[in-house]
Amino acid sequence: MQIVCSDKEAEIFRHISAAAQSLQMPAYLIGGFVRDKIIGRPTKDADIVCLGDGIELAHAVANRFSPKPTVAFFKNFGTAQIKLDEFEIEFVGARKESYRSDSRKPEVEPGTLEDDQNRRDFTINALAISLNEADYGVLVDPFNGVVDIDKKTIQTPLEPDRTFSDDPLRMMRAIRFASQLGFAIAPETFESIKRSAHRIKIISQERITDELNKIMLSPVPSVGWDLLDKSGLLKFIFPQMCDLHGAEYIDGKGHKDNFYHTLQVLDNIVPHTNDLWLRWAALLHDIGKPATKRFEEGHGWTFHGHEVVGGRMVPKIFARLKLPLNDKMKFVQKLVELHLRPISLTKENITDSAIRRLLFDAGEDIEALMLLCSADITSKNKQKVKRYLQNFELVKQRLLEVEESDRIRNWQPPVTGEMIMETFGLSPSRNVGLIKDAIREAILDGIIPNTFEAAHEFMLQKGATLNLVPVKH
Ligand code: ATP
Repeated sequence: MQIVCSDKEAEIFRHISAAAQSLQMPAYLIGGFVRDKIIGRPTKDADIVCLGDGIELAHAVANRFSPKPTVAFFKNFGTAQIKLDEFEIEFVGARKESYRSDSRKPEVEPGTLEDDQNRRDFTINALAISLNEADYGVLVDPFNGVVDIDKKTIQTPLEPDRTFSDDPLRMMRAIRFASQLGFAIAPETFESIKRSAHRIKIISQERITDELNKIMLSPVPSVGWDLLDKSGLLKFIFPQMCDLHGAEYIDGKGHKDNFYHTLQVLDNIVPHTNDLWLRWAALLHDIGKPATKRFEEGHGWTFHGHEVVGGRMVPKIFARLKLPLNDKMKFVQKLVELHLRPISLTKENITDSAIRRLLFDAGEDIEALMLLCSADITSKNKQKVKRYLQNFELVKQRLLEVEESDRIRNWQPPVTGEMIMETFGLSPSRNVGLIKDAIREAILDGIIPNTFEAAHEFMLQKGATLNLVPVKH
């Protein structure tokens, strides 16, 4: 098997080989690096497994480079890492793992290369390449991983029920690889995931969410989410997503299945952004629909207020999934709350004030919001989609024009709360907020121009209606 390595990689592997030879310690490239090289995917991390002490080998390798790279090692795990430029190499001694039914932690002992390959999760991840002088570059492929790469198949090397019971995270990994690589999960392996799905409960949320994020960043994330659903894993890890399923009919009137609609929106946005959080916003944009679904006589199905309900669900979902509760969450929440606004502007005579208001509310996230809304236009009727997208282009054009003339998007009203308090001799109080909001609304509605003089005058008028009198300075 020929794999294509850069000159730098080839040089590093030669050094590892020489260091291993000097220690009389056979060493192999193993796992994801070998898989990705055979597939032709870019990869920067390589795992080296050796028949001996990985930390000792890492030090011997580091000694061969000048300047000498730092060896980061973890004695408890027997692993060591060195970084050479962009390239990260991890060393570990080959091990044999045995799981007992009463414990999640395997018993680990030194093993052979074969033992180490046996503990790998999928045939495509169990490939090794010799770095030893006698057979340098020879592929060790006990489970026909190369055939599975050719067939684009994910399957466990050993009996799947056992593999998933030993470490249920592997079910998530199977689905993540399917989504990342565009591979299919072999039927017996998938049936086994279905049987073992409930065991995912014993895996920490952080590890599960790591896999979800990798699915999100994969080329066609709907593949991963659909498999999570079909395997039964989704209802354990993210039940609110399952609630989006189903199209109900009353009096011959139905609505679209919001689960598949959501996945389509997610896939639609992928070519336009690598931003994980914009992709999460796409996944969550309709999450409030099940809670707001009503059938209205003569009208059909409605989901009034689903953007508000959805927005409120975002922090809870982030907390449950252990996603960060910071400005990323706020960004997703804002997009969920605003996701109907640009579309609604295609349906009415668009006034400048409606455009200004959207620019103000979306602020610097307006482009992200527009991407989400374009992605949200899904219909089987191609003509309809085309018409919507054309109208949408008009909205985009108007946004540009209004932003050009009014500079609303990072805008702050010209009269601040401080000035209001000073003018009327107020301490922080409700009236200050009332006046401030009224000024902002008046400018956004185009009632007064966006100038200090006009805003100041308006403040005095509004103060008078609240029986406030300016204090003399
Ligand atoms: P990625 O780098 O995209 O996360 P990967 O498989 O290339 O995926 P790691 O997750 O670092 O990289 O895993 C490296 C190798 O370790 C895998 O290729 C596999 O052989 C093995 N491995 C990792 N996790 C498990 C697991 N839970 N069970 C069995 N083997 C595993």
